[in-house]
Amino acid sequence: MALPNIDASKLTVTRTTTPKPAYDKKTLSFGKNFTDHMLCIKYTEENGWEAPEIKPYGPLQIDPAAFVLNYSVETFEGMKAYRASDGTINLFRPEKNMQRLATSSQRIKLPEFDQEQFLQCIKELTKVDERFVPDEYGYSLYIRPNFIGTEPNLNLMYSKEALLYVYLSPVGPYFPRTVKLYANSQQARAWPGGVGNFKLGGNYAPALKPAMDVVAKGYDQILWLLGDDHYVTEVGTMNFFIFWTNADGEKELVTAPLDGIILPGVTRDSLLSLARQWGEFKVSERRVTMPEVVQAIEDDRMIEAFGAGTACVVCSVSEIFYEDKKFAIPVDPSNPDAVFGPLTNRLRNELLDIQYAKTPSPWTVPVQ
Ligand SMILES: *Cc1c(COP(=O)(O)O)cnc(C)c1O
Repeated sequence: MALPNIDASKLTVTRTTTPKPAYDKKTLSFGKNFTDHMLCIKYTEENGWEAPEIKPYGPLQIDPAAFVLNYSVETFEGMKAYRASDGTINLFRPEKNMQRLATSSQRIKLPEFDQEQFLQCIKELTKVDERFVPDEYGYSLYIRPNFIGTEPNLNLMYSKEALLYVYLSPVGPYFPRTVKLYANSQQARAWPGGVGNFKLGGNYAPALKPAMDVVAKGYDQILWLLGDDHYVTEVGTMNFFIFWTNADGEKELVTAPLDGIILPGVTRDSLLSLARQWGEFKVSERRVTMPEVVQAIEDDRMIEAFGAGTACVVCSVSEIFYEDKKFAIPVDPSNPDAVFGPLTNRLRNELLDIQYAKTPSPWTVPVQ
């Protein structure tokens, strides 16, 4: 007989007796405020998935010898709930996050889970903490699912116990400003045969020192270059896009392909499909090298460059430091104060309008 999978109909809700005071919107900074409740679902190889529980937000109890604490058996997701102007709450393409969590967890031998039932539990959690979903355009409720191996066992087999849990954080609008990148070819975030295409905690710790080193030099984020040809992969923890007139004289929006190096961003996929629907210029997923980017800048063929991810949606790039030289990237030549280039801004507005349900779209998934 098959062991039980996640079953949202078995969900229990234990409400907090000490609700948090309403938060002050003005002081929200990303990922520091959490809501009243969290969702926890336990797994053991013996008994399968237990009944999901929504309970007061608080510390986990975990064995010091747990897999996650020794061998980084951890994967996570990042998604958001948005309140539309009529008060309803929507998720944005949440099935993409469920699929990605499944793919990431398979890579570290965490157990399979029912994606639809798990999503149903996340919707329930969002409803329980509904009062924390901000009601202003640009604000949202960030949803962070974590999946960890909890078996206390130092033997490097795989974790026969696991915990899938979700907590929520109201977030303010990403303060729009352009970013300066420092191209790094000395260290790598991801490499062929590696795990850059999975959202594993183990990918992030080794990037912290390189990231802080560029901040100390006055830059915002790393532009990760890979290999001897300096393949332009991602920026910080965002996918990277270039809008240029390419070497063949065509207008082109280009981003790195899903070649195992690149994290398959939901924002990336959505922006590609919006730009393809417009049909106004070439849209490509292909490898571009830093020398090609430099050539385009020197030939005045670079139009805009931006990073893309759930946290900021899009973020225009104004400068790249590469091999001892600063290269200015145009943002909006018609407006020296612009924080978004014209194409970047158009993509941003179209995506936000879908996320806040101003534009009807199958990508908008109601929580109700
Ligand atoms: C999460 C993440 C992204 C963006 O993915 P979205 O689904 O668009 O939020 C891009 N790159 C890395 C390395 C990431 O971890």
